[in-house]
Amino acid sequence: MRRKISIFGATGSIGQNTVDLIQRQGGVENYNIVALSGGENINLLARQAIDLHADIAITAYLEKLPELKMLLLNTGIETAAGAEAIAESATRPIDWGMSAIVGAAGLNASFGIVRQGAVLALANKESIVCAGQLLISEVLKNNATLLPVDSEHSAIFQALQNNEPKSVERIILTASGGPFKDYSLEQMQQVTPAQAAVHPKWDMGQRISIDSASMFNKALEVIEVKHLFSCQSKQIEVIIHPQSIIHSMVGFADGAMFAHLGAPDMRGPIGYALNHPNRNPLPLARLDFAKLSQLTFQAPDPARFPALRLAYRVMETEGLSGAVFNASKEAAMDAFLEGKTGFLDMAMLVEKALDDPYLNEQIGGDVFSLDAITKIDLAARRFVNVLIENG
Ligand code: NAD
Ligand code: MG
Repeated sequence: MRRKISIFGATGSIGQNTVDLIQRQGGVENYNIVALSGGENINLLARQAIDLHADIAITAYLEKLPELKMLLLNTGIETAAGAEAIAESATRPIDWGMSAIVGAAGLNASFGIVRQGAVLALANKESIVCAGQLLISEVLKNNATLLPVDSEHSAIFQALQNNEPKSVERIILTASGGPFKDYSLEQMQQVTPAQAAVHPKWDMGQRISIDSASMFNKALEVIEVKHLFSCQSKQIEVIIHPQSIIHSMVGFADGAMFAHLGAPDMRGPIGYALNHPNRNPLPLARLDFAKLSQLTFQAPDPARFPALRLAYRVMETEGLSGAVFNASKEAAMDAFLEGKTGFLDMAMLVEKALDDPYLNEQIGGDVFSLDAITKIDLAARRFVNVLIENG
């Protein structure tokens, strides 16, 4: 039987890699594609929908719908647009769903997949950072399966296999250090969005590349580890490993450490989630240790990368602080992309949001309510926007 799947964020970096693997693994012969969602790149979305015989193609943007309809005229492929249409399409029955929309906008797709008891391949780390407790409780309630696609979390998931959670002593997340690993604070102050969006090791979307440069990406990932592997914040460490060959490590009670190594190619973790529990051949470059010659490590500098400290603060605060952290970070990045604020100011703005008394009153709200999460997300964005408008 053909496996029924949907891909949310199909036109993005993760989405295109997912489509690539599906094509290599037999395409429409082996997979029945239900929904594909995209954003502005209507041509690519239409191409993917035709190639994969999708039931429905959805663009996030209402104004793009006429163009999408034109491109898919007489194909029999249904079209739709907007956040609600994406949420609706995520409730259509599938066996496996990829959640790869960027930002908190990806939450509805993750919840739609989980609530129908399917396998959620989770690239959208924001779902966990903003709504970790709710998402995991829904996975259990609906007998769904959550497979992390973030490379570090896939590595940890694989390194943990068959070991009792209580035997885990520490989890070490590796970070490439991004393009500004060796920049001074003064240099970092001057950084432009174009410089921040170029990653030395991974080919990713614009926003996650900028998050990697500020280490906000690693900060989100630390919070993601805490929820996914239910450990304490003091068990989670971050180490800079510029070669990006070790994707993360798990240390056990007996002192043994397990590291996951591989080429820096997201088709590794995506393919693992697609084929789980099997390991099928994947088109990844194989490691040549003689050529690698050395793997190096260094501690991240807290002065230049304050995002990490803020992540530990969020883990201590708990409640809805993850949603405040993510939303204020997204709003700060919007401002950075528009040239309204500097690169280092993003962390300053997020810290101000975490300090704000009004937002702090709401942080104690219901972590199991998607409404409460959406409300505090909007409040945190408004808070950052007001700060920026007032200079
Ligand atoms: P991307 O920018 O390349 O693609 C994002 C996708 O989401 C596109 O299909 C876009 O059309 C869609 N999209 C954008 N805004 C939207 C909105 N408001 N509503 C609905 N759809 C929208 O991003 P990416 O690099 O593929 O990352 C996707 C997710 O995966 C992010 O959460 C990111 O943190 C995570 N992730 C990515 C990588 C990577 O290597 N790219 C690695 C680990 C985790
Ligand atoms: Mg990652």
